[in-house]
Amino acid sequence: MKTWIPDERNFAYLTWKQVDALPRETTLLVLPTAAIEQHGHHLPLATDTLINNLLLGKALAKVPAELPIFALPPVCYGKSNEHVGFPGTLSVSAHTFLAVVHDLGASIAASGFKKVVVYNTHGGNTSLVDVLARDLRAELGLRTFSLFGSPGAAFDGVSAQEKTYGFHAGEVETAFLLHGAPELVHPDHYTANYIAHVDQPEPLKPEGSSANFAWLTEDIAPSGVLGDPTAATAEKGERWSEEASARIAELLVAMYNFTLKHGA
Ligand SMILES: [Zn+2]
Repeated sequence: MKTWIPDERNFAYLTWKQVDALPRETTLLVLPTAAIEQHGHHLPLATDTLINNLLLGKALAKVPAELPIFALPPVCYGKSNEHVGFPGTLSVSAHTFLAVVHDLGASIAASGFKKVVVYNTHGGNTSLVDVLARDLRAELGLRTFSLFGSPGAAFDGVSAQEKTYGFHAGEVETAFLLHGAPELVHPDHYTANYIAHVDQPEPLKPEGSSANFAWLTEDIAPSGVLGDPTAATAEKGERWSEEASARIAELLVAMYNFTLKHGA
């Protein structure tokens, strides 16, 4: 898999003696979680994993060099059963995902480290990451943080329609890939699909509202795309990834410096 993680920030490139020399109390370990799943006719299965790595790699390059913050190898397989029926989607169950991340947390704790971040870029994992963040805190005593998607990216120029109904393989994901891995994008195979129009909102949404319907991609998007990639450009992808990685770097430093302040 391609990687943008700077070598000196790649935990798996260390020897165990180098790991043993790291400060246990303060070192911040970032565990990426993503997916290998269909992304329409035009984007690769690894899209969520590549975007995670691109944004995290750029963020780690912006973090002050003296801070011991490292990226762990990603959990590439996520809970992707919304994409059942599309060849190439490699999904694990909620139970398996929870068990894998929990066991990695236990290994981190057994090595004596105290601080871990789960950085997730696949929507199907989000609710599981919320559960895990609390469980790793409660059961393993880890100071656990969760981080999602591309905070700080303005997504300037993205239409209200795309912002509201561009859920999957639309303009934003396509722009990130056009910037980071253009050789993996197939612009001649773009398809567009919206499940509703922003001017005529439906009372029930697929996600993110107070009343949602449980959805499978094959129910609502035959090509696998929920959104419209056609306005994506590499330049937008570069700008948004710079904005997001700058914010992620700030958040990682805030996590590194985090201490609990007790209420009065
Ligand atoms: Zn995606």
